[in-house]
Amino acid sequence: MSERPVGDDLREAALRLRRAQQVVVFTGAGVSAESGIATFRDEGGFWDRFPPERFAHVPGLLAALRDEPARLAEFFREVVAPIAHAAPNPAHRAIAAFEQAVPVVVVTQNVDGLHQEAGSSHVHEIHGSLLAVRSALGGTAQLTRGDLRATARALEQAGATGSRRRLLWALRRLIGLSHRGTYRPDVVMFGEPLREPDWALARRAVRECDLMLVVGTSGLVMPAAGLPSEARARGARLIFVDPAPPEEPGLWLQGKAGAVLPALLREAFGAEPGGLARFELEGLLEGDKEADRGHVRR
Ligand code: NAD
Repeated sequence: MSERPVGDDLREAALRLRRAQQVVVFTGAGVSAESGIATFRDEGGFWDRFPPERFAHVPGLLAALRDEPARLAEFFREVVAPIAHAAPNPAHRAIAAFEQAVPVVVVTQNVDGLHQEAGSSHVHEIHGSLLAVRSALGGTAQLTRGDLRATARALEQAGATGSRRRLLWALRRLIGLSHRGTYRPDVVMFGEPLREPDWALARRAVRECDLMLVVGTSGLVMPAAGLPSEARARGARLIFVDPAPPEEPGLWLQGKAGAVLPALLREAFGAEPGGLARFELEGLLEGDKEADRGHVRR
């Protein structure tokens, strides 16, 4: 962990990014906080109100449906509504812009689809996606944010009545019966294996990277939380972007992802999110040729 001023750390991180051959950006809930999706461990936050031992697995959800349908409606609405209304923030857009300068694979624990929407082309969603449902037979179908907005509205009405039937009807886009059997959100719950092939591809990317940018994750949810130490054990450098200090050694850029990542993009490549065309035209790294000769990939 560094005690040097942020400016020096930012320059150091930018240099490492420019020199990297293969980057993994590993993200958690914090990268989407500035899109209006709360992290789960905020004080008085989501897990305080909906304890995971009750709400983060299928048997617990079935028990809640039986015993407290209005509260279950509230739980689903709080999960669905912020993602339904979210849009990528400058952090997602900066991550998407990095790939125009270096090869980048995004490994995300988030289920909000915002990296893809921002334009990242290689995204592994190891905890699944709320924008997809999967059937008991293994097939998946995509949902739109419009589907989620309609679900959130219906949940609000169902919650007010406390009726189980209305709750199940409100949830029909996420949970139900089709000609392919039952279906459910394609989201990994507690005790379930991570989504494949995303998890296998994520681990391969981690083995192959020489730089990992770890953004907005508390590092508490296993097995995902083991990825940074796996990368480090294989010789990759780690850079953390988070207001809170990281759990393991690496360069820490303290702050919100929506401010730090665009600053890193500017420092490394002289570009704004979405503005790498300018960087292409002006010629990358004019001032850094000496330092970076032979390392930069276009
Ligand atoms: P977490 O809630 O445990 O930790 C969030 C981290 O983000 C903390 O380290 C916090 O300091 C940091 N943070 C908060 N605001 C930030 C900001 N503006 N910029 C950068 N960092 C910021 O989240 P987690 O480690 O991802 O684990 C929670 C689990 O819940 C994950 O599996 C995740 O999939 C899921 N989750 C997903 C979403 C989503 O899809 N957007 C939202 C909440 C939780």
